[in-house]
Amino acid sequence: MVDQNALLRQLPSVDELIKHKAFTELIQAHGHDVVTGCIRDAVAATRLAVIEHTVYEINKDALIADIDIRVMEKVQFGTLPVVNATGVVLHTNLGRAPAPQAVATHVAEIIRRYNTVEFDLTSGSRGDRGAAVERFLVELTGAQASLVVNNNAAAMLLALQTLCQNEEVIVSRGELVEIGGAFRIPEVLETSGATLREVGTTNKTRLSDYERAINENTGALLKVHTSNYRIVGFSESVELKDLVSLGQKHDLPVIYDLGSGAFFDLAPYDIKDEPGVHDGLASGADLICFSGDKLLGGPQAGIIIGKKTYVDRLRRHPLMRALRVDKMTLAALEAMLRIYLDEEQAKKDIPVYAMLGQSLAELKDRATTLATRLKDLGVEIDVVESKAVLGGGSAPDREFPSYALSLKATEALSSAHAAEQLRRLEVPIIGYIEDDALNFDLRTVFAEEEDYLVEALVEIAGPEEDEEDA
Ligand SMILES: *Cc1c(COP(=O)(O)O)cnc(C)c1O
Repeated sequence: MVDQNALLRQLPSVDELIKHKAFTELIQAHGHDVVTGCIRDAVAATRLAVIEHTVYEINKDALIADIDIRVMEKVQFGTLPVVNATGVVLHTNLGRAPAPQAVATHVAEIIRRYNTVEFDLTSGSRGDRGAAVERFLVELTGAQASLVVNNNAAAMLLALQTLCQNEEVIVSRGELVEIGGAFRIPEVLETSGATLREVGTTNKTRLSDYERAINENTGALLKVHTSNYRIVGFSESVELKDLVSLGQKHDLPVIYDLGSGAFFDLAPYDIKDEPGVHDGLASGADLICFSGDKLLGGPQAGIIIGKKTYVDRLRRHPLMRALRVDKMTLAALEAMLRIYLDEEQAKKDIPVYAMLGQSLAELKDRATTLATRLKDLGVEIDVVESKAVLGGGSAPDREFPSYALSLKATEALSSAHAAEQLRRLEVPIIGYIEDDALNFDLRTVFAEEEDYLVEALVEIAGPEEDEEDA
């Protein structure tokens, strides 16, 4: 029988441990408080283990190692940059659109200093928050007015609460969809205090269905772009411009939830059926809402453009105070929209479009070059065809042919294990598993991430290092 009290007496004190040379560097890097806290936790855990008879000796080295792990876990960021080798361009779980460098630089400068987010330099007094961004949006889209809120869900909430609270909003049954991340259009609509008046059937809705539903309690007509699914075959939906005519006839605003919000013509990227901001405006819709981090390629935001009378009503609604965006978002969006002033340059500088614009030949070339480099370094890796997708609930049936590096599972390294090791890196690498291989689609991997990818693959799948010689 171990003498518990004797064991507890052997347990080093917090004061004694904090002076140990093993912690000098940790204290320098992360501060005295963090390390002391972790020492206290580790000692307490060991004391408990002794009392509960799960530990029968005090091992100081093990205790120090435990403290080390606790410190690392405590200071580890939860949101890390990653290498996206999934081939999903707008991956909602991986932060959707990666922003251009110019955007990151501008945000960093604004966030660390005082700034003019709500200050007018001409008068020297209070200015309009968001005015600079709105100016860009109006210039780029040709809309009468614009407004920015937290995200597209917020934009819809604000639009409906302002225009249809305690009234009905008419929407096609075929458009009441769920967008990834549990955004159910009907739930958001009802939160606004508007009553949904569903018309048509899942596959067919005609203009006459909307018209018949209009009554004295109707507040607006709504069209939702069914971003992430498509009803094909025997189906029919009403063109936005016809809905706009109907709205005008009955003096009702038409709200269009566009979803993705591309500024460019997407035909050169071979994306069809994904309406852009200009299509929405051309149809004459009164309010158009879209996300900032989908095909716009910028930060999370909900962008509202349209007729000035309606936009101004939204702007004055008290809810606007709760949905407004931070200076970081405004700075990012402004820097983003500035890039769009030069369309040709924008297509090169906005990562989303640079990725979509890569030719198959370029991708194959990148894949073969990397595979050759890896083989020279002792990693057996194949080049395989892959299918990139837009993701983020845009252009659902659009696949982009692509190329991937493919690491076949071996006896020693299963695909799941390889994937796990790559997820544990300082900058994790996220691939996808298919046919018992771990693949890395290069369409979503930045050129400047290639060396890092090579190093990581050598580390996990390269030849065993000879410890003696190393
Ligand atoms: C993505 C999407 C939304 C949600 O946008 P968030 O910016 O993520 O809030 C709403 N409606 C449509 C049609 C969408 O595609």
